[in-house]
Amino acid sequence: MTGAPEDRGSTDPAPDPGSDAAPGSPSNARERRRARRVSVAALGGLVVVAIACWRPLVAWFTGSSGEPGSTSSVAERAPIGAGRGGDVSYYTCSMHPSVHAREPGKCPICAMDLTPVTGDEERAGVIRIAEDRRGLLGIRTTRVVRAPIDVEITAKGRLVVDESRLHDIALKLGGFIGDLRVNASGQTVTRGDMLFTLYSPELYAAEQEYLIARQGADAMRGERLVHAAETRLRLWGMSEDQVAVLAQRGEPIERVPFSSPVSGVVIEKNVVDGAAVAIGQRLFRIADLDEIWVEADVYEADLPRIARHMPAAITLDYLPGKTFEGRVAFVYPYLDPASRTGRVRIALPNPRRELVPDMYATVAFKLRLGPRLVVPISAVIYTGPRRVVFVDLGNGALRPRDVVIGARSGDLVEIASGLAEGDAVVSAGNFLVAAESRIRSAGSFWEDRHDDR
Ligand SMILES: [Zn+2]
Repeated sequence: MTGAPEDRGSTDPAPDPGSDAAPGSPSNARERRRARRVSVAALGGLVVVAIACWRPLVAWFTGSSGEPGSTSSVAERAPIGAGRGGDVSYYTCSMHPSVHAREPGKCPICAMDLTPVTGDEERAGVIRIAEDRRGLLGIRTTRVVRAPIDVEITAKGRLVVDESRLHDIALKLGGFIGDLRVNASGQTVTRGDMLFTLYSPELYAAEQEYLIARQGADAMRGERLVHAAETRLRLWGMSEDQVAVLAQRGEPIERVPFSSPVSGVVIEKNVVDGAAVAIGQRLFRIADLDEIWVEADVYEADLPRIARHMPAAITLDYLPGKTFEGRVAFVYPYLDPASRTGRVRIALPNPRRELVPDMYATVAFKLRLGPRLVVPISAVIYTGPRRVVFVDLGNGALRPRDVVIGARSGDLVEIASGLAEGDAVVSAGNFLVAAESRIRSAGSFWEDRHDDR
């Protein structure tokens, strides 16, 4: 339209003074010819504008940006080939997608009216498969629903000794070990069990001093000497009972028995019978296994979901079929730089001593995420980094759409974005649909990143 005045200017080389001239004059004839030229030009302009505007207009209506339903509804409403031949790419039969006709008409196989496929639909990968034919092809659709989902994060773990239940046996004086009762690692000891005897010249001398002090205990000073000598014996590891036995005997004990102050399992033994030991040397390490730790290695990505007191189920290859229930006791505040995993600790009671340090375990953490938008996992096609579902637009049309998936729970997967509650998606046979869509589509949906959500 805007082209018309310009046309007028260009078709009229000289300004015309005789616009009010009488009919029949030469200027009048020129005026009529000019008017005709103007109207032809205006019509031409209109056609150009209409052609230019038609595609964006249709695109806006069939709207890749708008509601997905509009694609099919516009296509369905429009009479076949009526005035929109430029937009229709081809005609097909919804029962026989192999039929590919340039003109509207009947299906050569079933004689049904052919359905138009618009260029937009073609580019979006929309395909048409009639609902009554889907059963034959094994295609089923399912509604997108909101359902509560529980997520399980699994991690590999290892049983370790509860660090707070470790006890070292070390001597506060040097000497020689005899009568070693605990002869192997892994041996169970009970509090009060004798571990070994010790001959220590220093201890022997101290016992003698104690006994001599007792003999002169009547005097005021003697009382204090006895007390000092007794304290020294106790600090060196003799029990009150042993000191009492010594006093009763009146003779020093050469080989003083040492007993275990704790119950547990000997996990480290650094001594043999007859060995000379130095002050402070660790002879045994005893672990109390009444409670044991499970240390699970959780992937960095899963780590933010793990919190203290969260329930965890522990299974062991060693005890198939048995599950130990525990709770997260601690999340270590650092990662393993090599494996990029974080460590999570669960404390398990172990009254029957079935759990042994260094066993491997599988730990499953249970998370309740609450209601989420879900589809069956079978509805989602994984294609490279993309996750695609086929949305049923009605009237046989199936359109691929990118979705973002979230947590998985059993056969269900959370849809973080891309679908709405109540949408129907293909949940079975979608690989067939995808193959068909790839073949049918002009390529744009399947070839490049298509932000169609
Ligand atoms: Zn047909």
